[in-house]
Amino acid sequence: MTHAAPTARALIADPVSGDTPVPEAKLEAVFNDIRSHPLYDQELYGCLNCGICTATCPSAHYYDYSPREIVQLLWTENLEGIYDAMQEKIWACAQCYTCAARCPFHNSPGGLVMIMREVAIKHSMQSAKDALRPFTRVLLKVISTGNQLAPNMITKDAFPDWGPNVSKIDAPLDLLRKAIPVPTLHTMDTAWVVNLKTSVELYTIWEATGVLDQLEQVDENLFDVISDVMDEKREEYQEWLDEQDN
Ligand code: SF4
Ligand code: SF4
Repeated sequence: MTHAAPTARALIADPVSGDTPVPEAKLEAVFNDIRSHPLYDQELYGCLNCGICTATCPSAHYYDYSPREIVQLLWTENLEGIYDAMQEKIWACAQCYTCAARCPFHNSPGGLVMIMREVAIKHSMQSAKDALRPFTRVLLKVISTGNQLAPNMITKDAFPDWGPNVSKIDAPLDLLRKAIPVPTLHTMDTAWVVNLKTSVELYTIWEATGVLDQLEQVDENLFDVISDVMDEKREEYQEWLDEQDN
Protein backbone atom coordinates (compact mmCIF):
# COMPACT_ATOMS: atom_id res chain seq x y z
CA MET A 1 0.00 0.00 0.00
CA THR A 2 1.42 3.42 -0.88
CA HIS A 3 1.20 6.53 1.23
CA ALA A 4 -1.79 8.76 0.85
CA ALA A 5 -0.92 11.77 -1.29
CA PRO A 6 0.37 14.65 0.83
CA THR A 7 -2.42 17.01 1.72
CA ALA A 8 -2.24 20.77 1.50
CA ARG A 9 -1.68 20.66 5.26
CA ALA A 10 1.74 19.01 5.37
CA LEU A 11 2.36 20.12 8.93
CA ILE A 12 0.22 19.58 12.00
CA ALA A 13 0.19 21.29 15.35
CA ASP A 14 2.21 19.37 17.90
CA PRO A 15 -0.02 18.76 20.93
CA VAL A 16 3.08 18.55 23.13
CA SER A 17 4.60 21.88 22.34
CA GLY A 18 1.47 23.80 21.47
CA ASP A 19 1.88 25.57 18.16
CA THR A 20 5.06 23.88 17.00
CA PRO A 21 4.36 22.21 13.67
CA VAL A 22 5.51 18.64 13.06
CA PRO A 23 7.49 18.36 9.84
CA GLU A 24 6.29 15.90 7.22
CA ALA A 25 9.67 14.14 7.45
CA LYS A 26 9.07 13.46 11.13
CA LEU A 27 5.60 12.07 10.44
CA GLU A 28 7.10 9.79 7.78
CA ALA A 29 9.91 8.67 10.08
CA VAL A 30 7.46 7.75 12.84
CA PHE A 31 5.21 5.81 10.48
CA ASN A 32 8.14 4.03 8.84
CA ASP A 33 9.30 2.84 12.26
CA ILE A 34 5.82 1.49 12.96
CA ARG A 35 5.47 -0.18 9.59
CA SER A 36 8.94 -1.74 9.69
CA HIS A 37 8.39 -3.28 13.12
CA PRO A 38 8.88 -7.07 12.81
CA LEU A 39 5.36 -7.75 14.12
CA TYR A 40 3.49 -5.18 12.06
CA ASP A 41 2.51 -7.49 9.20
CA GLN A 42 1.19 -10.06 11.67
CA GLU A 43 -1.03 -7.52 13.40
CA LEU A 44 -2.69 -5.82 10.44
CA TYR A 45 -4.28 -7.61 7.47
CA GLY A 46 -6.97 -5.16 6.42
CA CYS A 47 -9.92 -3.41 8.01
CA LEU A 48 -13.64 -3.46 7.34
CA ASN A 49 -14.18 -0.48 9.64
CA CYS A 50 -16.89 -2.64 11.24
CA GLY A 51 -16.25 -1.44 14.78
CA ILE A 52 -16.44 -4.87 16.45
CA CYS A 53 -13.10 -4.22 18.13
CA THR A 54 -14.31 -0.96 19.64
CA ALA A 55 -17.61 -2.52 20.74
CA THR A 56 -15.71 -5.14 22.75
CA CYS A 57 -12.91 -2.89 24.00
CA PRO A 58 -13.08 -2.08 27.73
CA SER A 59 -10.93 1.03 27.35
CA ALA A 60 -13.27 2.44 24.72
CA HIS A 61 -16.01 2.49 27.35
CA TYR A 62 -14.03 4.73 29.67
CA TYR A 63 -11.73 6.84 27.50
CA ASP A 64 -11.77 8.86 24.32
CA TYR A 65 -10.24 5.87 22.58
CA SER A 66 -11.22 3.53 19.77
CA PRO A 67 -9.19 0.60 18.43
CA ARG A 68 -11.19 0.85 15.19
CA GLU A 69 -9.90 4.39 14.77
CA ILE A 70 -6.30 3.32 15.46
CA VAL A 71 -6.49 0.50 12.90
CA GLN A 72 -8.11 2.76 10.32
CA LEU A 73 -5.40 5.39 10.77
CA LEU A 74 -2.73 2.77 10.13
CA TRP A 75 -4.57 1.01 7.30
CA THR A 76 -5.16 4.29 5.42
CA GLU A 77 -1.66 5.53 6.33
CA ASN A 78 -2.98 8.75 7.78
CA LEU A 79 0.36 10.05 9.05
CA GLU A 80 -1.00 13.10 10.83
CA GLY A 81 -3.69 11.06 12.56
CA ILE A 82 -1.20 8.38 13.59
CA TYR A 83 1.13 10.95 15.12
CA ASP A 84 -1.77 12.65 16.85
CA ALA A 85 -3.05 9.35 18.32
CA MET A 86 0.41 8.68 19.71
CA GLN A 87 0.26 11.84 21.82
CA GLU A 88 -2.39 10.39 24.15
CA LYS A 89 -4.86 7.84 22.83
CA ILE A 90 -2.54 4.85 22.48
CA TRP A 91 -1.81 4.98 26.21
CA ALA A 92 -5.47 4.24 27.02
CA CYS A 93 -5.27 0.63 25.76
CA ALA A 94 -5.28 -1.94 28.56
CA GLN A 95 -3.56 -4.59 26.42
CA CYS A 96 -6.27 -7.16 27.12
CA TYR A 97 -6.41 -8.30 23.45
CA THR A 98 -10.16 -8.84 23.42
CA CYS A 99 -10.11 -6.94 20.11
CA ALA A 100 -7.68 -9.44 18.57
CA ALA A 101 -9.96 -12.33 19.49
CA ARG A 102 -12.98 -10.71 17.81
CA CYS A 103 -11.68 -9.02 14.66
CA PRO A 104 -13.00 -10.78 11.51
CA PHE A 105 -9.77 -9.82 9.75
CA HIS A 106 -7.61 -11.32 12.52
CA ASN A 107 -6.05 -7.94 13.16
CA SER A 108 -4.64 -7.20 16.57
CA PRO A 109 -5.40 -3.58 17.44
CA GLY A 110 -3.82 -4.12 20.86
CA GLY A 111 -0.66 -5.43 19.20
CA LEU A 112 -0.58 -2.42 16.88
CA VAL A 113 -0.90 -0.13 19.88
CA MET A 114 2.06 -1.87 21.50
CA ILE A 115 4.14 -1.23 18.38
CA MET A 116 3.09 2.43 18.40
CA ARG A 117 4.09 2.70 22.05
CA GLU A 118 7.53 1.29 21.31
CA VAL A 119 7.94 3.84 18.52
CA ALA A 120 6.71 6.65 20.79
CA ILE A 121 9.46 5.68 23.23
CA LYS A 122 12.04 5.47 20.47
CA HIS A 123 11.14 9.01 19.40
CA SER A 124 11.19 10.28 23.01
CA MET A 125 7.62 11.52 22.76
CA GLN A 126 6.40 13.43 25.77
CA SER A 127 3.36 11.15 25.94
CA ALA A 128 5.66 8.15 26.55
CA LYS A 129 7.50 10.01 29.31
CA ASP A 130 4.24 11.00 30.95
CA ALA A 131 2.76 7.51 30.69
CA LEU A 132 5.80 5.80 32.19
CA ARG A 133 6.63 8.32 34.91
CA PRO A 134 4.31 6.78 37.57
CA PHE A 135 6.22 3.51 37.20
CA THR A 136 9.65 5.01 37.89
CA ARG A 137 9.78 3.66 41.43
CA VAL A 138 8.79 0.16 40.39
CA LEU A 139 11.21 0.22 37.44
CA LEU A 140 14.07 1.24 39.69
CA LYS A 141 13.16 -1.52 42.10
CA VAL A 142 12.89 -4.20 39.40
CA ILE A 143 16.06 -3.25 37.61
CA SER A 144 18.23 -2.63 40.66
CA THR A 145 17.05 -5.58 42.78
CA GLY A 146 15.21 -7.96 40.44
CA ASN A 147 12.02 -7.52 42.48
CA GLN A 148 9.01 -5.37 41.89
CA LEU A 149 8.00 -4.67 45.46
CA ALA A 150 9.23 -4.80 49.00
CA PRO A 151 6.58 -5.73 51.58
CA ASN A 152 6.30 -2.28 53.02
CA MET A 153 5.67 -0.79 49.57
CA ILE A 154 2.25 -2.49 49.52
CA THR A 155 0.09 0.30 50.88
CA LYS A 156 -3.15 1.93 49.85
CA ASP A 157 -1.41 5.23 49.26
CA ALA A 158 1.12 3.73 46.86
CA PHE A 159 -1.55 2.09 44.71
CA PRO A 160 -4.58 4.37 44.40
CA ASP A 161 -5.34 2.85 40.99
CA TRP A 162 -6.14 -0.49 42.63
CA GLY A 163 -9.42 1.03 43.71
CA PRO A 164 -11.44 0.13 46.82
CA ASN A 165 -10.19 -3.48 46.87
CA VAL A 166 -6.73 -2.29 47.83
CA SER A 167 -7.96 -2.41 51.42
CA LYS A 168 -7.91 -6.21 51.10
CA ILE A 169 -4.20 -5.97 50.42
CA ASP A 170 -3.55 -3.38 53.06
CA ALA A 171 -5.43 -5.10 55.86
CA PRO A 172 -3.41 -8.34 56.15
CA LEU A 173 -0.09 -6.61 55.53
CA ASP A 174 1.43 -8.03 58.69
CA LEU A 175 0.39 -11.48 57.55
CA LEU A 176 1.82 -10.94 54.07
CA ARG A 177 5.08 -9.80 55.59
CA LYS A 178 5.30 -13.02 57.56
CA ALA A 179 5.19 -14.94 54.26
CA ILE A 180 8.28 -13.14 53.04
CA PRO A 181 11.78 -14.20 54.21
CA VAL A 182 12.67 -12.74 57.60
CA PRO A 183 15.80 -10.82 56.58
CA THR A 184 13.77 -8.77 54.14
CA LEU A 185 11.05 -7.65 56.54
CA HIS A 186 10.57 -3.94 57.05
CA THR A 187 13.04 -2.99 54.38
CA MET A 188 12.78 -1.12 51.10
CA ASP A 189 15.79 -2.98 49.75
CA THR A 190 14.37 -6.25 48.52
CA ALA A 191 11.57 -8.71 49.07
CA TRP A 192 13.83 -11.70 48.43
CA VAL A 193 17.37 -12.11 47.31
CA VAL A 194 18.28 -12.10 43.62
CA ASN A 195 21.89 -13.21 43.45
CA LEU A 196 24.61 -11.13 41.90
CA LYS A 197 25.16 -13.36 38.88
CA THR A 198 21.45 -13.23 37.99
CA SER A 199 21.40 -9.44 38.35
CA VAL A 200 24.35 -9.08 36.01
CA GLU A 201 22.77 -11.49 33.53
CA LEU A 202 19.52 -9.52 33.59
CA TYR A 203 21.39 -6.30 32.97
CA THR A 204 23.20 -7.88 30.02
CA ILE A 205 19.87 -9.02 28.54
CA TRP A 206 18.29 -5.58 28.96
CA GLU A 207 21.33 -4.01 27.38
CA ALA A 208 21.47 -6.43 24.43
CA THR A 209 17.75 -6.21 23.69
CA GLY A 210 17.64 -2.41 23.74
CA VAL A 211 15.52 -2.11 26.89
CA LEU A 212 18.03 0.21 28.51
CA ASP A 213 18.25 2.33 25.35
CA GLN A 214 14.48 2.72 25.51
CA LEU A 215 14.68 3.70 29.15
CA GLU A 216 17.27 6.35 28.34
CA GLN A 217 14.88 7.83 25.79
CA VAL A 218 12.10 8.35 28.31
CA ASP A 219 13.90 8.92 31.63
CA GLU A 220 17.55 9.90 31.47
CA ASN A 221 17.86 10.37 35.25
CA LEU A 222 16.52 6.91 36.00
CA PHE A 223 18.80 5.48 33.31
CA ASP A 224 21.83 7.14 34.98
CA VAL A 225 20.88 5.84 38.41
CA ILE A 226 20.36 2.31 37.11
CA SER A 227 23.61 2.41 35.13
CA ASP A 228 25.50 3.31 38.31
CA VAL A 229 23.79 0.51 40.25
CA MET A 230 24.60 -2.03 37.56
CA ASP A 231 28.21 -0.86 37.14
CA GLU A 232 28.70 -1.45 40.86
CA LYS A 233 27.13 -4.90 40.61
CA ARG A 234 29.32 -5.81 37.66
CA GLU A 235 32.42 -4.74 39.57
CA GLU A 236 31.28 -6.68 42.61
CA TYR A 237 30.65 -9.76 40.47
CA GLN A 238 34.05 -9.48 38.78
CA GLU A 239 35.72 -9.24 42.20
CA TRP A 240 33.88 -12.36 43.27
CA LEU A 241 35.02 -14.19 40.11
CA ASP A 242 38.62 -13.08 40.69
CA GLU A 243 38.43 -14.37 44.26
CA GLN A 244 37.26 -17.76 42.96
CA ASP A 245 40.22 -17.91 40.55
CA ASN A 246 42.60 -17.20 43.41
S1 SF4 B 1 -6.11 -4.72 23.72
FE1 SF4 B 1 -6.49 -2.52 23.94
S2 SF4 B 1 -7.62 -2.01 22.10
FE2 SF4 B 1 -7.80 -4.23 22.32
S3 SF4 B 1 -9.69 -4.59 23.47
FE3 SF4 B 1 -8.02 -4.50 24.96
S4 SF4 B 1 -7.93 -2.38 25.65
FE4 SF4 B 1 -9.14 -2.41 23.73
S1 SF4 C 1 -9.80 -3.89 13.22
FE1 SF4 C 1 -11.15 -5.62 12.77
S2 SF4 C 1 -12.84 -5.47 14.25
FE2 SF4 C 1 -11.79 -3.48 14.20
S3 SF4 C 1 -12.91 -2.25 12.71
FE3 SF4 C 1 -11.23 -3.23 11.60
S4 SF4 C 1 -12.05 -5.14 10.80
FE4 SF4 C 1 -13.52 -4.40 12.37
